[in-house]
Amino acid sequence: MIAPPLVGRSAVITGGGRGIGAAITRALADAGATVLACSRDASTATDLAAELNDRGDRAFATACDVTAPDSVAAMAGYAAENLGHIDILVNNAGRAHSAPLHHQTLEEWNRLFAVNVTGTFLCAQAFAPAMAQQGWGRVVNIASIAARTGLRYVSAYAASKHAVLGFTRCIAAEMADRGVTVNAICPGYVDTDMTTETVERIISKTGLGREEALASILQTTPQRRLIDPDEIAAVAAMLCGESARGINGQAIGIDGGEFLG
Ligand code: NDP
Repeated sequence: MIAPPLVGRSAVITGGGRGIGAAITRALADAGATVLACSRDASTATDLAAELNDRGDRAFATACDVTAPDSVAAMAGYAAENLGHIDILVNNAGRAHSAPLHHQTLEEWNRLFAVNVTGTFLCAQAFAPAMAQQGWGRVVNIASIAARTGLRYVSAYAASKHAVLGFTRCIAAEMADRGVTVNAICPGYVDTDMTTETVERIISKTGLGREEALASILQTTPQRRLIDPDEIAAVAAMLCGESARGINGQAIGIDGGEFLG
């Protein structure tokens, strides 16, 4: 029997208790990794870890607010104590917001950057140098199609995700000769709470019905459908495998062909 590809590897997934993060946590556990799912109050991550442990995987959960250096340090301490070395970091925690420029507030701009950009930086800094020291590691940053193109009303979100992509490319270059790869996944609309909230916002602003509101966001997507979180998770797991060692500094679109640049 061939061993699952990530047996012996340990992974940290930020925002790993729900949505795309939960799908990635499951996929990495399926691939044999020991996983540490983090969520802000630990409750969703704890439920998921319990489910994974019940089915025979090795899973942990802890609280982590990626915007707070102390919280990231405490999470890294928990990881070291319970999982030992960390081989894989998935920077998935994210926040979205839409507003036309004249309604964009500085407070929301700062909140978005704190989660999407500063959170990615803090967690990468907490784990990637040790990966370089041990000579093997994988960092997967969940960016967005908004990291690669400009769209109406999402200037703060797109700017933050462009920053994630720039950061990804720089750290990939920095780590390239140390056995560590750093890549970004750039999804289109995924079927999670984040997209449900987008649809709710459209409903409240336009008075459209739910189906019409959903159709209005799907009309720009070539496949006219939401991406399933498991599609993101499968690519994240692939990037963490040995055979992906040559994939570095890339922005991998999972958007049905929406961005073709
Ligand atoms: P959800 O809104 O469903 O979940 C957001 C996740 O981020 C939750 O796990 C949440 O944790 C976590 N999170 C938010 N703020 C913080 C914080 N300060 N500290 C730690 N964790 C935090 O989003 P998705 O699952 O859809 O999104 C996951 C990632 O994918 C994000 O980076 C998002 O930008 C990106 N993405 C999503 C797309 C989509 O269409 N849904 C498209 C493209 C990219 P908690 O459980 O504690 O709330």
